[in-house]
Amino acid sequence: MLPTLCVYLVALVCFWLGTGYVSLAQTYDLVLVNGHLFDPKNGINQPMDIAIKEGKISNIQTRIPVEEGKRAIDLGGLIVSPGLIDPHTHVFVGETPKIFAGGSSSVSPDNFSFRSGVTTVVDAGTSGWRNFEHFKTTVIDVSQTRVLAFLNIAGGGMRGNPYQEDITDMNPQITAQQIAKYPQFLVGVKIGHFEGEEWAPFERAVEAGEIAGVPLLVECHLPRYTLADQLARMRPGDILSHTYENIRDREPIIDTEGNLLPVVKAAKERGILFDVSHGGAGFWFNQAIPALQQGLTPDTFGTDLHRFSMNSGMKNFSNVLSKFMAMGMTMEAVLTQASWKTAQALKREDLGHLSIGAEADIAVFRLRQGDFGFVDSAGQRIKGNKLLEAELTIRAGRIVYDLNGLSASSYQKNN
Ligand SMILES: [Zn+2]
Repeated sequence: MLPTLCVYLVALVCFWLGTGYVSLAQTYDLVLVNGHLFDPKNGINQPMDIAIKEGKISNIQTRIPVEEGKRAIDLGGLIVSPGLIDPHTHVFVGETPKIFAGGSSSVSPDNFSFRSGVTTVVDAGTSGWRNFEHFKTTVIDVSQTRVLAFLNIAGGGMRGNPYQEDITDMNPQITAQQIAKYPQFLVGVKIGHFEGEEWAPFERAVEAGEIAGVPLLVECHLPRYTLADQLARMRPGDILSHTYENIRDREPIIDTEGNLLPVVKAAKERGILFDVSHGGAGFWFNQAIPALQQGLTPDTFGTDLHRFSMNSGMKNFSNVLSKFMAMGMTMEAVLTQASWKTAQALKREDLGHLSIGAEADIAVFRLRQGDFGFVDSAGQRIKGNKLLEAELTIRAGRIVYDLNGLSASSYQKNN
């Protein structure tokens, strides 16, 4: 009897250990090992492994055995960051020629985001309350990239003229109602592209932001307003775009003596945020270099991505980050602003970090060393010796971009 019981118990223990081993071995869907983790929200800047399960960050340790994942990827020599956030894009692409709202001047988010380490883009008011739901159906709902948006105070968004100039279609109450209806997508209000002298559009945009409790994005193309008057109407947390531009649509932030305007310094101290919004014409070294030297580093790194900026000096999000590294910012500083600080500016603190339980949006970069050139909107170039290149991008736990096939198996002739 006794030996039989022993055999039974041994068999039971073996079975238990066996199943325990199997479940332990496949605890995670994906394990990323040997990368250098940079997660500013959590104060991590050291080699760490990451485990992902069901689309979320499941574990972070100095070492996680590869056997614990159904898949594992070796990220030796690479930088692992939270998925980056581009807070200024125009992605309401559609069939109408030559306009932004549902038109050919916008671009599709997935065509650009992941190959630059971006997992979230924010559309900068290409839609207004009248056409946001069309934008949602045709772009937001079908994109792998997370798409958020500022809602234009103009009801039809960037539909071209005369619609953008029609003050009677700028309704703060309805704009705020639409934001309240879609809080998971709409992060703020936008004012831009108004050529009149009246302040009603700007003030209604501020009012919509007040009602909805969201920030205002001030895009340029408001040529009749002075910069000082715009900044005076902005609240702490509101965002000025095209910070380093030097065109007729807005007066520059640097005076003819090369000094940062006192009104800009005061606005920075008051909590106004400054976005790059590079665009095709909106980034000038003769503004950015003296501004950085005088302390006006960008709060966020919006690219102002659209058909006419994508192949200019802007190129892509990680190229814009590298450009600021060439002007003296550290890699840690640009990645901090482009992840956690941008999430905070958008009041989306669920994003921009790799805390356990967060959605697994991850950007993996190679910091290339070499001889690189960076161009501004005046056609001038500076040189740099570092370039951030997106190597692998993960969105909600799925590998969505893999430049060199780090996650692929090696080719075998007879397979
Ligand atoms: Zn824009």
